[in-house]
Amino acid sequence: MKQIEKCKNSKSRFPLRFKIWIYFILFTIAVFVLLWIFQIFFLERFYESMKKHDASQCESKISQAFDTMSTSDFSDYIKEIAVDNDMCIEVLDRYGRSIYSCEVLGDCLIHGKSNSTNIYRVNIDKSENKNIRYRVKNPAGYDMLLYGCTLGSADAPDGYLLLNSALVPVGSTVTIIKRQLMIITVALIIIAFFLSLYLSEKIAAPIDRITKAAENLAKGDYNTKFDGRGYLESQKLAETLTYAEHEISKVDKMQRDLVANVSHDLRTPLTMLKAYAEMIRDLSGDNPVKRNEHLEIIINETDRLALLVNDILDLSKLESGKQQLSPSEFEISSKMTEIIDRFKGISERMGYHIHFTPDNPRNVVCDEIKIQQVIYNLINNAINYTGDDKQVFVRQINKPEGVLIEVEDTGDGIEEDKIKLIFDKYYRSENHKREVVGTGLGLSIVKAVLKLHNYDYGVRSRLGKGSTFWFMISDVANDKKEE
Ligand code: ADP
Repeated sequence: MKQIEKCKNSKSRFPLRFKIWIYFILFTIAVFVLLWIFQIFFLERFYESMKKHDASQCESKISQAFDTMSTSDFSDYIKEIAVDNDMCIEVLDRYGRSIYSCEVLGDCLIHGKSNSTNIYRVNIDKSENKNIRYRVKNPAGYDMLLYGCTLGSADAPDGYLLLNSALVPVGSTVTIIKRQLMIITVALIIIAFFLSLYLSEKIAAPIDRITKAAENLAKGDYNTKFDGRGYLESQKLAETLTYAEHEISKVDKMQRDLVANVSHDLRTPLTMLKAYAEMIRDLSGDNPVKRNEHLEIIINETDRLALLVNDILDLSKLESGKQQLSPSEFEISSKMTEIIDRFKGISERMGYHIHFTPDNPRNVVCDEIKIQQVIYNLINNAINYTGDDKQVFVRQINKPEGVLIEVEDTGDGIEEDKIKLIFDKYYRSENHKREVVGTGLGLSIVKAVLKLHNYDYGVRSRLGKGSTFWFMISDVANDKKEE
């Protein structure tokens, strides 16, 4: 919530809506500024340079054709170029006599004007590059381009080429374009204004909706619906948040359950402790037999409390990610016998039977204490949930890739949909038997330890027949003791 407040208070943030809108408008303005600059201010220069470029190109094309084409082809070619480029073309022989001519302009400077063409020819000869590039006015006062060059070799030319094209004044065109642009600019800026408003609304609306919903989620409403309709990203965000909501609510529920379970589990022994302590004080203090009996109960209940607190601590350490493994090498068969021996007391007292089927002794390398706890928790559960025959089967199966440990009971089994949940933190079935102390954290510890080791694990279960929990210790020592 503090985070939300922080965001609300930060001044420098413009809303997304505004930003999209302003960028869109700025972009439109930039486009128009460029359009105006090019269309109005540079149009004349652009037009002229284009014309000059065209003239140069035609000049070099014709020069090339003069050297390579037959007379009739050349004549056709010149016509084609003249028509395509709107220019007059005059080809002179080395003495200045017109040999090819094509006129498409009304006021041509060269067609039929042998005096002028001769002057141009002389100028070409005189010029350093053997060409001329003039911008001259025709008698009507219009600007014209007049280009000329030698044909064949530059020093002893076979002929001369003269090109004349008109530079049509662009003033009136500019005025027309200006008017058009004015209308288009105003129209498009208005359209851009509304379009950007619409677009920014369309982009920001799903985010706003999701933010509002997320605020509700932050307040603890786990029924919040995230509506991400609009576009793919918002849809994905909504889906992710829905998933997060689901997970958070699950954890939240489990945490509540844990608090409820733990407080219940704490209250029962505490009540007992108080009751028996009072009994010793008031009644059995002087009676050694009774007193010892009561003290025994107090000790057992204290053990139970210690176990619960240890489980909670263990799990929180494992889950904090700070827990490091301390691997060591040990022999698994004897270790398992040792763990099973710890259940001797309960086996004898309550008639449970733990059958251990060892395989050949084999050395493994893993965190001994933690793996010991895994095996202990699995056997503990098997005793808790086994059937009335009170049988539990523990197996060590050596495999090439490691040592498979199995713990089987003959209990009710676990329903298919519950199997996914039992390894979850705080999950605990309602029909909980309490032969051996359990905290609802046993399997979570098993899962955390095995995950830390990167070992495979799982459970096979058949309703009414029992369950087999298994895991594979895949770090076996190199000096296998196997025969
Ligand atoms: P606890 O046994 O203290 O409830 P665990 O984390 O060890 O906590 O187990 C979680 C749940 O998994 C149990 O409440 C039970 O429903 C189920 N479970 C565990 N082991 C077995 C088993 N051997 N047979 C059937 N159900 C089991």
